[in-house]
Amino acid sequence: MAEAAEAAEPGNLAGVRHILLVLSGKGGVGKSTISTELALALRHAGKKVGILDVDLCGPSIPRMLRAQGRAVHQCDSGWVPVFVDQEQSISLMSVGFLLESPDEAVVWRGPKKNVLIKQFVSDVAWGQLDYLVVDTPPGTSDEHMAAVEALRPYGPLGALVVTTPQAVSVGDVRRELTFCRKTGLQVVGIVENMSGFVCPHCTECTNVFSQGGGAELARLAGVPFLARPLPSPFAGSVPLDPELTRSLEEGRDFIRDFPQSPAFPALSSIAQKV
Ligand code: ADP
Repeated sequence: MAEAAEAAEPGNLAGVRHILLVLSGKGGVGKSTISTELALALRHAGKKVGILDVDLCGPSIPRMLRAQGRAVHQCDSGWVPVFVDQEQSISLMSVGFLLESPDEAVVWRGPKKNVLIKQFVSDVAWGQLDYLVVDTPPGTSDEHMAAVEALRPYGPLGALVVTTPQAVSVGDVRRELTFCRKTGLQVVGIVENMSGFVCPHCTECTNVFSQGGGAELARLAGVPFLARPLPSPFAGSVPLDPELTRSLEEGRDFIRDFPQSPAFPALSSIAQKV
């Protein structure tokens, strides 16, 4: 592990306008995917975006943005985040940059995780940001509490909740919504991911899982259902899209390179609503 910044100025997120935590009840539902594509869509809308990856035990954003192996440097005001694009419109901080190899495991107890998350907030030279997107681990854990506590001084905190359509995932999301209520996070919306698969040959949709759980949950919780309504049967959801999987594996810019893909309209529309 690299050494943490020792003499950084506190308050390095003072220049942020909106903070959005991306939450999910369980792993593998596409939380890091949504965080990544939201950041890219905001960037293409002309915004300056920071991504804070506090999924300490499974940091996948560096790989999804082809930033794996990049180094974090120090300057007078703390750690300099990794700039993902040449225009420096997306800055990223992740424990993945502090590990000696991508296969290294973070085996830490809560207090050590809390210290690192606080440092990611106060010791990183974030500069002026329109949005800080915070990718969190699944569930509600020490990392969530540490992030909420560290970020709260910088303004109201929004939450974007990601689910898959199955009832079991939706049940997990109910717990996320309770967490948001108890910690004062404002739920800006629910995204239902992996909802339906469009056959690339006949364009017919198959609902691989069940359908409509996210929309129902949003209705019950009284929060917006964020992905743009697509023609039935996709109403308000991000479909399973092999081009999205490929794009993430290759660390490509899906929003720029795959505008014809089934997942593009829903993914790009989320940025217009946060
Ligand atoms: P989480 O952060 O919730 O653990 P990830 O974002 O890492 O989940 O997604 C898990 C896997 O599913 C990744 O390999 C990702 O490429 C893939 N994936 C996520 N959403 C979609 C989608 N809509 N279509 C196709 N693949 C997806």
